[in-house]
Amino acid sequence: MMRLMAPQREHAVCHTAKRVVMRTCGCSRPEGDENLTIAQGLRGRFLFSLTAPRRFDPAGMRHYTRPGPRHNARNDDPGLGGVRAAGYSRHLMVIDAIDVYWVRIPLAFVWKTSYADQHVTDTILVRMQSGPHHAWGESCPPYIPSYSSEHTLGTFHTVREHMAPRIVGRDLRTAQDLLDRIDFVRGNQFARAALEIAWWVLEAKRHGVPLHVALGGKGDAVAVGADFGIQDSLDILMSQIQGAIDAGFPRIKLKFRPGWDLDMVAAVRSTFPDFTFHVDCNAAYTLADVELFRALDRYRLAMIEQPLADDGMSLVSHAELQKRIATPVCIDESGHSLAHVRAAIALGSCKVVNIKMARVGGLAASRAIQALCAEHGIPCWVGGMLESAIGGAICVELATLPNFTYPADIFPSSYFYAHDLGKPEIVLSGRGEVATSRVPGIAQEPDPDLLARWTVEHASFRAKA
Ligand SMILES: [Mg+2]
Repeated sequence: MMRLMAPQREHAVCHTAKRVVMRTCGCSRPEGDENLTIAQGLRGRFLFSLTAPRRFDPAGMRHYTRPGPRHNARNDDPGLGGVRAAGYSRHLMVIDAIDVYWVRIPLAFVWKTSYADQHVTDTILVRMQSGPHHAWGESCPPYIPSYSSEHTLGTFHTVREHMAPRIVGRDLRTAQDLLDRIDFVRGNQFARAALEIAWWVLEAKRHGVPLHVALGGKGDAVAVGADFGIQDSLDILMSQIQGAIDAGFPRIKLKFRPGWDLDMVAAVRSTFPDFTFHVDCNAAYTLADVELFRALDRYRLAMIEQPLADDGMSLVSHAELQKRIATPVCIDESGHSLAHVRAAIALGSCKVVNIKMARVGGLAASRAIQALCAEHGIPCWVGGMLESAIGGAICVELATLPNFTYPADIFPSSYFYAHDLGKPEIVLSGRGEVATSRVPGIAQEPDPDLLARWTVEHASFRAKA
């Protein structure tokens, strides 16, 4: 047994007595929150110790989302709640309550990437209520600040201390209304997304439509791919790949790091000469490795995902690499926001973009990025952060937008979890596809018992009656 975190009594005081906050912990509660009564429910908890490989052509990329007859939103339909949807959603939406949960979920196996060997998912769940409606959203930051400078403890802190108090009690009729309230916070995209994503699900439920309809997407199912991390042997990897192909996954992503790189790809391509693969380097290389990436060209990969470090020169470096190799470069870690992707397009840094809804600050930004990329002929796909079924279901809804043309990183719950926090669990609805929501918002909510067992910290915010 391992104690993860002690209760933070001084911060509980912080939120129940504003004047005390300013003296005791220096929190600079932004103006405008005096009309709120914020009840902070912190608790430390004891948790258990946890221990068709054709030449890739972005312009000809197949749209894998299966069209469906149920919802007929036009491709240019902005959906509900967004900046451009003011006419539809200008209905009072006072946020009556927000609950923020930091939850630690054990993985079914050790997930090995170039960053670390990961045993748990550390995620943030938000329950948001307006009138009789409530909704759950999820933003899953990296559990340590390696994929980006953000991580779960920092995300929870930022939402609790700086964002949720400015949201609760407010009339937020569009996603932009919410984003404007927290615009003073720089960076911290996962924290921003935690609240904004919950808002979208709530908005969809208020209007009685599935989330993908609220977002402007359409389709009864989306295509999903298979991912494999670093394995103990090539034989194990080949067996897993064969299983994924047999299960009908349309493409496979292979984690790629020094020591598990060119020889691995050569072996995979030799064994599976006609299947669609791409590699994800998780920013493990520099321009000094350009010959390694030139050597990858012969293996006809769909793309090389985030080959280079996400440093201050990242977009320039990726542009230089893209000039020197034929395989499309895809940015992931370096696409922090709509502005970053706009810069990447201007510089020629990539030919594909992986959009992770939390990394870019939420669903409105995700929607805007895929539309911007479409204008420039750059295909996108939905990436994942090992979310629970709640976040996974939201990713499914996002993937219905028209420029998500490469199968998503959305996984059946049973792949990463012995027990998924979200119910119902994510399952394949067909060969390599997951069904979209048939109910208002999404169908998934956390299992109450698992939420109680795995919650590390919980903060509650209530609007003044
Ligand atoms: Mg990636």
